[in-house]
Amino acid sequence: MNLVFLGPPGSGKGTQAKRIAEKMNLLHLSTGDLLREAVKNGTALGKKAKKYMEAGELVPDELIVGIIEEKVASGELDNGYILDGFPRTVPQAEALKKMLKKNNSKLDKAILIDVADAEVINRLSSRAKIEGRADDADVSVVKNRLDVYKKQTQPIIDFYSGESILKKVNGLGNIDDITKRLHQAITGK
Ligand code: ADP
Repeated sequence: MNLVFLGPPGSGKGTQAKRIAEKMNLLHLSTGDLLREAVKNGTALGKKAKKYMEAGELVPDELIVGIIEEKVASGELDNGYILDGFPRTVPQAEALKKMLKKNNSKLDKAILIDVADAEVINRLSSRAKIEGRADDADVSVVKNRLDVYKKQTQPIIDFYSGESILKKVNGLGNIDDITKRLHQAITGK
């Protein structure tokens, strides 16, 4: 099963992607985790990505698309996966479609975790205290990430809806219930 998880920052995407990946034996690939690791290790990628992440902006498409291309080419994704945090723009979604096609592959479903703005802002400020992510602690950076989500990422909901692979799941409630809802939306069981 090849899946993309979509949702605003703070929607629980990462938590749920991890749980579903484990349950369904899929590879979980979080571009946010990958970039944070690169920044921490001071790699060439990390050095390029740092300033965008700190400002709550997206890193340039070609940077992240290059990384996903490498993953697809390496065969790492051949046994099924959940992409978490990618694609985040329509050009990224188009690039993904193209690279998968080249590999005789495609996405099965795009899962949208639906959570209202007010809830998201609350969650991110409490996450800042728990996980210590700098981009969660600053209210103006959080607001910017939500704006960026609306302007640059929300349009890919229409993209996947147009491809008839979009599934929307309510992201409010307790973590276990949401995992069950997602599993049901993905497998029909
Ligand atoms: P969030 O909780 O805001 O969804 P993530 O952990 O997914 O955060 O990503 C953190 C940051 O990493 C983003 O704000 C962005 O700067 C960068 N990033 C992650 N994935 C991508 C991507 N696909 N394209 C561009 N930038 C990305």
